[in-house]
Amino acid sequence: MPSDNIDPIALFECRQCGRCCNGYGGTYLDNRDIQRIAKFIDTDPAGFTDRFCKMSGQRLLLAQRKDGYCIFWDQLCTIHPVKPLMCRKWPFLESILVDPANWLIMADSCPGIKTEVDTEILKRFVRLMRSCNWYYP
Ligand code: SF4
Ligand code: SF4
Repeated sequence: MPSDNIDPIALFECRQCGRCCNGYGGTYLDNRDIQRIAKFIDTDPAGFTDRFCKMSGQRLLLAQRKDGYCIFWDQLCTIHPVKPLMCRKWPFLESILVDPANWLIMADSCPGIKTEVDTEILKRFVRLMRSCNWYYP
């Protein structure tokens, strides 16, 4: 994980509660996500999208179970090493750079987000994460 002398734990520490894997607007996928997840679960992209995805307008997103959880949630993310970029970014979203108040709004739904943070350090870390493309190899 990039640091730039910033301790990420001072900003966020996942509690693995699964709230972010339930509901919301869905988890969108790009082509790289599709390739990586398909390989991880030992299938091909077409097989992966047929079984585990659905369309939302023109965009592909991960299917959800009837209880609202992502199809890959099972007490934890079962595709964690290759989870979609959208999931990898959380909670260090670019929207924080636009308005750091978004951090506190997100904290309402994510108990891992620390609310007593230095906004400038937070923004620096988001930029750092973006520059690393959120850990894509
Ligand atoms: S809602 Fe936050 S604390 Fe809970 S699993 Fe998601 S990222 Fe972790
Ligand atoms: S891919 Fe993993 S982290 Fe992303 S919503 Fe599904 S279970 Fe949660």
